[in-house]
Amino acid sequence: MYKQALSGEVERLLSGRTRDITLTGALAGRFRDRSFKQTAKIVRSWMLWVILLDALAMGTNILLLPVEAAFPMLPPSLIIPPSALAVYAAWNRQRSDLLLNGSLVAGMAAILLSVCLMGAAAGGEFYERYLSIMLFVAVAGIIIFNVPAGATQAIAAFALVLYLAFQLGNREVSTSSALSAFLFFASGVTATVVARRTMTILAHRTFLLELRDAQRVDELARANEKLDTLSRTDALTKLPNRRDLEDVLDRMRSPSASGGGLAMLMCDIDCFKALNDELGHAEGDRCLAEVSQMIRGSMPSHLSYACRYGGEEFLVILAGEAAGQALEVAEAIRSKIEAGQLQNPRSSVGPWVTVSIGVAASREVLTQSPEELLHAADLALYAAKSKGRNMVVDSMTSLEIIEDQVA
Ligand code: GH3
Ligand code: MG
Ligand code: MG
Repeated sequence: MYKQALSGEVERLLSGRTRDITLTGALAGRFRDRSFKQTAKIVRSWMLWVILLDALAMGTNILLLPVEAAFPMLPPSLIIPPSALAVYAAWNRQRSDLLLNGSLVAGMAAILLSVCLMGAAAGGEFYERYLSIMLFVAVAGIIIFNVPAGATQAIAAFALVLYLAFQLGNREVSTSSALSAFLFFASGVTATVVARRTMTILAHRTFLLELRDAQRVDELARANEKLDTLSRTDALTKLPNRRDLEDVLDRMRSPSASGGGLAMLMCDIDCFKALNDELGHAEGDRCLAEVSQMIRGSMPSHLSYACRYGGEEFLVILAGEAAGQALEVAEAIRSKIEAGQLQNPRSSVGPWVTVSIGVAASREVLTQSPEELLHAADLALYAAKSKGRNMVVDSMTSLEIIEDQVA
């Protein structure tokens, strides 16, 4: 249900205009979870770079600039490392959105303010230059931080307010010149915010497409699974069919198949043709369904397997401990079906549906192949039929019966 609602929302967003894509609720949460690792990596490495660049700039300033310009810059430059480190620490794991984005905006505000203060402290040509550097830092951050639009806009607005305030505070620049520079940079920063928004929308779209793909792959896998099950199931009796049996036999043949006992029970409804002829094919089908239910209900353990071998024949395979009870299980099936009193008025056995069962058991799978067992069970079934039907015959007895008949 939840998955369906989610896929409905994915389809709705993908069928609309790309620029209208807005992730909300569970989808937004999923996107956040998925992109957090990458965003955090970018934010944290960017913060480390800022600290490194700050240290390098201060070093070269002291070496290259006049003392009266370089030294006043030192105190404000000290704001940067702790601010950047605080953001670095906050993004070390996934926390609430408010905390993560709040820390980023606050950290960026402190860094931007520190750059402005450095320019103002140095004065002269440095005043203007550091304001431009501050805008450059803000724009770089806006572009590379994949954070919600609110956080991006807050950083942009703060940078522009800082720029305007420090420009107006610069006695060497006239108000009109300050305003004109502000308007110029404001349009540039706005364009950056719009570009960031476009990138975010495209990232959301890619995310939605990936979700849809994953879901389609999932649906296809489930449909295939269903198809596979259907192709291995007999439609009438709902038992595994011959095709499934082939795979089961293949697995038994594989060297990794566990040793231990194995037994096969070949069950065949007696005089089934007579039932069909007397009561009709539909009644015959109903009989097949009921008999298969009774066989299924007589399975002793999870190590037993029953399938429709073909027509009115069913094969039961018992493995492990259950194989030792093959004759008991066969007798249980036979008596259960006889007690079921399903009509077969023209049967040579009696008025009810009965089955004959041939049993072949082997203590050691490796010494006797599944094919040999199957063949032995078939021979035993043949012996049961020839001895009068409605009985269980094992492969040892079957040899005597057949020898007797030959003699
Ligand atoms: P026996 O006791 O020797 O096994 O005799 P029988 O009549 O059971 O065996 P025979 O092989 O002569 O006939 C089997 C019949 O089963 C013939 C076939 O029409 C019928 N049959 C096979 N599959 C189906 C099926 O899916 N539905 C129905 N109603 N009949 C089926
Ligand atoms: Mg039959
Ligand atoms: Mg048959």
